[in-house]
Amino acid sequence: MKKNFMRWLAALACAAMSAPAAAANVKVTPLGSHDGEFCPQDRALVFEDPNGTRILYDPGRTVAGPQDPRLGKIDIVLVTHMHGDHVGNAHSKAPNSGTCDKPDTSVSAFPNSSAVNIVLEKKAKIITGTEMQAFFAAKLRTNNGNHADAILARFGGSVTSGGVRIATVTAMHSNGLDPGYIGGELGKAMAAAGIAGYVGEATGYILRFSNGLVAYLSGDTGITADQEKVVRGQYNAKLTVMNIGDGFTTGPTEAAYVINELVKPNAVIASHANEVATRGGKVVPGSKTDTFMKAVKIPVHIPLSGKTMEFDAGGKCVAGC
Ligand SMILES: [Zn+2]
Repeated sequence: MKKNFMRWLAALACAAMSAPAAAANVKVTPLGSHDGEFCPQDRALVFEDPNGTRILYDPGRTVAGPQDPRLGKIDIVLVTHMHGDHVGNAHSKAPNSGTCDKPDTSVSAFPNSSAVNIVLEKKAKIITGTEMQAFFAAKLRTNNGNHADAILARFGGSVTSGGVRIATVTAMHSNGLDPGYIGGELGKAMAAAGIAGYVGEATGYILRFSNGLVAYLSGDTGITADQEKVVRGQYNAKLTVMNIGDGFTTGPTEAAYVINELVKPNAVIASHANEVATRGGKVVPGSKTDTFMKAVKIPVHIPLSGKTMEFDAGGKCVAGC
């Protein structure tokens, strides 16, 4: 009897050892302008849920349109707001075009936007908040796409797509629609008058992946009380993608305050630095990114283009950082 038990125990130990390492991690791959670097225009990240769902966040100008070979399968596109460096008013002709300092953005994406072109090509869903969904639905319809692929997640609600729960949260920013997306006589008149179209407020996102990881993607934002009351209080985000560029969004010290005192995640990925943040994959001393790293009390991960990082349910980077 005892011998059988020992044999069973040995078999169990053996099975445990040969089982694959826990694969329930979320993969994050930056799609910046230049491989291995963090460059001024870089915003785009691909999140891959352990179940295989792939989410493109703010394609911006560094994703070389829908034909960018780095995209692969894309199930969901997220756009925090309509500014050209996030939705993609223009984009590079191919990855690594131009220099890190001055990436190529010579391909216009008017009047559709790069985000819409990617959604059409990949037959993806586009999930946005406030009034942006109506804009994207209309663009899909006029391009023979499916307008129902533009899905609304307004503040306080959430939608689940591909096993990932997606909510929007406030971002203190602006969100005027460039008349270039409107076109025609109206677009011309608006451009001449210097006014933008209304598409609601800018947003950030909360993603809850199937392994339990909750991530907060700040988008362009200032400091908000919601970062404490909602992002931490309600959603308890463990990983944050934080915009640090200054001038247009929180700068490095303000962003560090958001991380240290308001959101308090376990790890943060710096984003939207609007500078040559790395050379040879190393953070440039004295850069905004350097200042942010020194001011933050938790691990700061640098989004080096093409380098995949893996995060566990607690927001800990377990590979690629
Ligand atoms: Zn913006």
